Amino acid sequence: MSALELSIEDLERLLATASALTLEYWDSLPTRRTYPQLNGAQLAERWAAPWNEEPLGPEVLGRFHEVAEASRASTGRFLGYVFGSGEPVSAIGDLLTSALNANVTSWRSAPAAASIERTVVGWLAEAVGCAGFTGSLCGGGSAANLMGLAMAREASRPANEHGVRGDCTVYASSEVHMSIPKSMALLGLGRDNLRLIPCDEDFQLRTDELQKAIDADRRTGKHPLAIVATAGTVNTGAIDPLLEMARVAKAEQLWMHVDGAYGALAAIAQPERFAGLERADSLSLDAHKWLYQPADCSCLLFRDHEHARRAFSFSGDYVKVLAKDEIEGFAFFDESIELTRRFRALKLWLSLSYHGRAAFKQAIKQDLQHAQRLARLIADEPELEVLSPVGLSTVCFRHRKADNREVLRRLIDRGKIYISNATIRGEFALRACFVNHRTTDEDVSLLIREVLTAATEA
Ligand SMILES: *Cc1c(COP(=O)(O)O)cnc(C)c1O
Repeated sequence: MSALELSIEDLERLLATASALTLEYWDSLPTRRTYPQLNGAQLAERWAAPWNEEPLGPEVLGRFHEVAEASRASTGRFLGYVFGSGEPVSAIGDLLTSALNANVTSWRSAPAAASIERTVVGWLAEAVGCAGFTGSLCGGGSAANLMGLAMAREASRPANEHGVRGDCTVYASSEVHMSIPKSMALLGLGRDNLRLIPCDEDFQLRTDELQKAIDADRRTGKHPLAIVATAGTVNTGAIDPLLEMARVAKAEQLWMHVDGAYGALAAIAQPERFAGLERADSLSLDAHKWLYQPADCSCLLFRDHEHARRAFSFSGDYVKVLAKDEIEGFAFFDESIELTRRFRALKLWLSLSYHGRAAFKQAIKQDLQHAQRLARLIADEPELEVLSPVGLSTVCFRHRKADNREVLRRLIDRGKIYISNATIRGEFALRACFVNHRTTDEDVSLLIREVLTAATEA
């Protein structure tokens, strides 16, 4: 017997322990600190011990407490960045996923996983108004955006064989997420060739400026490739004018990629605000943000899988799929950058099915309402001021008199609530983002009290 084998009795005890630890943790969320009080040196020391030669056995699970204590808790009072709240059914799905240990390279290697992934990807596409799109799950919006732009490049200036030739330009608003310039660099297109188009006062890309930039580039012999629209900017939640941008993309024969990592899933609750999404050639969305899934769970959708194959298909013989059947011959590695892939679809399928679509729609609506509620409460406080339109579920604001950096530092230190920051028109802003199924109205009120308290201390 391998030294790594465990008896079924041992496994039963371990699972019982893990399940008790998990329950205790979830039960403690309402009262947990939102940010740990331990510093870097303390934590480095906590886990500095060398790898033990002899087994520690089940007692090592007991150290979960120390891990949890030093983690940012997924409480309803976590409102930083854009990060989902870790829906528990999905978390349980993560355990089952690892137990199965499927390698979802293709249907042949993981028949159930491949079938379920194709199903849930179809659900997501349909839910955001893009019925008929296909795609795959991946690790994050950054990876999805990279793949979307790789498809755009191969569609009009193929570079897979001989590299990039000439200056290929891509257009996005000045509010674009950093993953887009990063993709430009990684794809050999160069960050200089990303044109940052000015926004209007609502932080939405100006299509007149977009058109001007494309015209100027054509005049000077550049090769415009793609337009990136953001459906929910990370700073303020602004949605670019999708329909107008799609019109420009069509007239100019450019690829339209929509970065919907933060916002696209809100189309489940407010489809009318996302008209034009269905005109995208590729679309990224993050289920680990506004579908509350534990990380990681992101998705790239595309209109035509032939473009994905053109960008990503390059099979060595050892993975060449033998089956002729269209379903059984399907391989994710022909349509994405990954080969070995986790069965991300299981947790998503379990979570989406367990609760049903109406429950997610309601949770997203509640997030939108929390943002509106926060904006109203801020407007009622003479010392506070909202700094940007509340596009989706993000509120940027400031204390009028205090040093807002210091307010944020103290607020996080106090450990009752967690928010992050943004730069709005060059100014430091406090920023709360609601993509959290655990947040209550009371948490929103608490945020106001905590900001005011932190400001008096600051
Ligand atoms: C979060 C986010 C990304 C990056 O997604 P990750 O999952 O963090 O890689 C890209 N674009 C926008 C608008 C985002 O909000």
